[in-house]
Amino acid sequence: MKPVLPGSAIGVLGSGQLGRMFAIAARRMGYRVHTLSPDEDTPTGQVADLEINAPYEDLDAIEKFAAAVSVVTFEFENVPAATAAAAEKCAPVRPAGHILHTTQHRLREKTFLLNAGLPITPFRRVASLAGLSQAAAELGLPAILKTADFGYDGKGQHRVASAEDFQAAWNTVAQSESVLEAFVDFEREISVVAARGSNGEFIHFGAIENQHSNGILRVSLAPARVEDSLVAQAVDIARTVLEKLEVVGVLCVEFFVTRDGRLLINELAPRPHNSGHYTVDANVTSQFEQQLRAVCGLPLGSPKQLSAAAMVNLLGDIWSKGEPNWTAATAVPNVKLHLYGKLEPRPGRKMGHITALAPTVDQALADAEQSFLAL
Ligand code: AMP
Repeated sequence: MKPVLPGSAIGVLGSGQLGRMFAIAARRMGYRVHTLSPDEDTPTGQVADLEINAPYEDLDAIEKFAAAVSVVTFEFENVPAATAAAAEKCAPVRPAGHILHTTQHRLREKTFLLNAGLPITPFRRVASLAGLSQAAAELGLPAILKTADFGYDGKGQHRVASAEDFQAAWNTVAQSESVLEAFVDFEREISVVAARGSNGEFIHFGAIENQHSNGILRVSLAPARVEDSLVAQAVDIARTVLEKLEVVGVLCVEFFVTRDGRLLINELAPRPHNSGHYTVDANVTSQFEQQLRAVCGLPLGSPKQLSAAAMVNLLGDIWSKGEPNWTAATAVPNVKLHLYGKLEPRPGRKMGHITALAPTVDQALADAEQSFLAL
């Protein structure tokens, strides 16, 4: 296919912060951006040329949206498969709908990874309360019960420590098809964000180290403080995933590093990822510009990292005592503030992030935490 050149319009399904940062990258390169979601005055809509307000199930609206742009991409993976199919009738959709279909459902994703021979956390499918007890007997406890679909940021998950937790866990997953995963006593968590172009070109940002709190990413450090050989293994796995899924776009692989130094894939996200936000400030080409280049059929940019970086997420919780002190936070000169334009700061909601750049990751982390504490 011919490349989609600057000046063309790109459609983004979804309207959160990932779409916003994508739209900023796209507009900087002279593209127009249309976004569609059920919401109004959204993080993406605020910086897009056109914000369309329609449910994802309104397939007529989806077709009209796709017909007005040169390529459609998405910013979150829970777009229904029928929506991607409707868009595909009128414009190329990248990454393709089948990738969404695989990655938006934990069982399909894990089955794909198993078939690809890649290392994943031991799991069992669970479809009933009795099935949960059976799965727990096979896997051992503790374990985590997760809904098979539409789960993110630790939502729809329940830790199971003993048989007494079965009923509460089953209630949390809304008594639907779910997955029981062995609890991994990990040494740390890392991710690899990578991009694949329409001609098969592949780039990656190396390994990123992630710390979560209550199932939500809190801090990312780049580069991760792990051995080079582990980075190489993680990148190899990411490359296999992007190639086997024939991704055109960006994909993130999240891993657990076990205490004996093995990698286990936790999950995939077929889009730019929170752990890659530092690339906006620290790299020659950010994850969002790589997504843009990939979906437009342009050559990928250099992923070279120009400075060590630490990113700290800003959740709605920090508004609990009123507006955070932005003046104090921005007084740390090597810290960059990103806010997503969300109107309501609810607890656990991702409102923005800060990125600190410094000669070492440890210094970047200290500076990011200093800025965060000043909030
Ligand atoms: P998820 O939404 O599945 O990525 O889970 C969010 C976070 O919860 C992960 O990044 C881990 O910190 C923790 N977590 C999820 N699954 C497991 C597991 N099987 N073992 C240990 N920790 C987990």
